[in-house]
Amino acid sequence: MVNIRASCETCGNIELPTTDVRVWVCNNDNRGEYSFRCPYCATTVVKGAEPRSINLLVASDVQRGTFTLPAEMSETKNGRRISHHDLVEFQAKLHDTAAWDEALDALLNG
Ligand SMILES: [Zn+2]
Repeated sequence: MVNIRASCETCGNIELPTTDVRVWVCNNDNRGEYSFRCPYCATTVVKGAEPRSINLLVASDVQRGTFTLPAEMSETKNGRRISHHDLVEFQAKLHDTAAWDEALDALLNG
């Protein structure tokens, strides 16, 4: 089994088997990244990688997958940006069962 060296933000430099690492390449722009779960703290680590690094990882038997960016990323954005205040208000609504009932009633009954 081949081990590779990687870096976890919590644990620092670590070694893990290539079977615990995955390479992901974007179908839209060929951007690459690799991911693994740190064997010490169980944090999932995702890092961008240059094509040369991706090729080296794949040549070391790291499993390669692809992903496609969601179509929403290429949509034109209209309206104002979501603010911190909007998020705080949304979080409060998540815990407001009366607001949920009202919203569901409006959704179901027009
Ligand atoms: Zn860690």
